[in-house]
Amino acid sequence: MIPNTTLQQLPLVDLQLQHAGLAPQIDEAIARVIRNSDFVLGGEVEAFESEFSRYCEAAHAVGVDSGTSALELALRAMGVGPGDEVITVANTFIATVLAITHTGATPVLVDVDPVTLTMPPEAFAQAITSKTKAVIPVHLYGMPADMDPILRLAREEGVRVIEDACQAHGARYKGRRVGSLGDAAAFSFYPGKNLGAFGDGGAVVTNDGNLASSVRSLRNYGQQRKYHHVAKGFNRRLDTIQAAVLRVKLRHLDKGNERRRRHAAKLSALLVESGLLVPKSPVYVESVWHLFVVRSRLRDALREYLLNCGVVTGIHYPIPIHLQPAYADLNCPVGSFPVTEAAALEILSLPMYPELLEEQLTRITSAISAFSALESSQQPRGDTYYLASSRNIG
Ligand SMILES: *Cc1c(COP(=O)(O)O)cnc(C)c1O
Repeated sequence: MIPNTTLQQLPLVDLQLQHAGLAPQIDEAIARVIRNSDFVLGGEVEAFESEFSRYCEAAHAVGVDSGTSALELALRAMGVGPGDEVITVANTFIATVLAITHTGATPVLVDVDPVTLTMPPEAFAQAITSKTKAVIPVHLYGMPADMDPILRLAREEGVRVIEDACQAHGARYKGRRVGSLGDAAAFSFYPGKNLGAFGDGGAVVTNDGNLASSVRSLRNYGQQRKYHHVAKGFNRRLDTIQAAVLRVKLRHLDKGNERRRRHAAKLSALLVESGLLVPKSPVYVESVWHLFVVRSRLRDALREYLLNCGVVTGIHYPIPIHLQPAYADLNCPVGSFPVTEAAALEILSLPMYPELLEEQLTRITSAISAFSALESSQQPRGDTYYLASSRNIG
């Protein structure tokens, strides 16, 4: 029986559907690892690393156990530690900042651009001190940050650049793939990411051979060859079964990203008169739409309405890092990062995954239109958003 999709609940991401299409190839890949019983590092990890670095148009990829580890080990390989400052954005997933903290360095947060919600180069410039060792721009929701001014400034100031590309596998900035832009990049293969494993995983991507060797050593007890330890390293290797799964899924990444782009264009077109703020990419970036995030002053009511229509949404992220109990020690009270704080109250992530069908997209937008019509009939109001600038939006 063909399920009636209009009655089914529409999830934010549908991994079961994605895996159903790839099951035979993935089963074979996992069986191969078991047959070879080459369970730690080995040929599959090396093959994935070389395929993924080529995909990112970079020289090296080093597989690690998560995106958080990728960020932390890249920082450590650059010699970042206690007494150093690392600049990143307030509007990101907390892992970006945890990675900085775990090296012993001090995270320095800056507010984001009100339109792109990524790092404004001017804010980075203002946050640099004599202690700044590195900067981590985040390609949030799949959209690359404005990298060229950040890279130029970092070079002038002797600051290393790590891209947080955990949400942006395959995205391009001025034609170049993310992952190849800075000194290093961190990727996550958490299952829900655009390239996701069957568990945790991550990678550091870089053009710097020395940095790649350091990360390779740090992920594997700090050894250079077996039982020869040059650093107090960790056990943070990419699991071999995950590498085998990722090799299969990497071959389908561009196709999936292309579908996400088509879905995003369609959603944007259908939401033009919805009264919501819909995401737009600056002309020089090609987003891979990890998430499709709209903004509404009536976010919580809209979210509830959509759920009643069977449309599941998410909030990425509801509480900014500086307002989390874990980061009370940053001493950044409410009001410290107004753009980030306003966004946290207004953002809503709509369902977004490659396998979405045309009628599901219209089901989402029809439900939003119905909500808007209901709202404006009850109490007319002009939606005003916290938008201080609209740089480079085309
Ligand atoms: C997912 C994510 C991470 C962390 O990746 P894990 O694999 O979950 O450790 C870091 N930064 C951003 C922006 C992410 O979305």
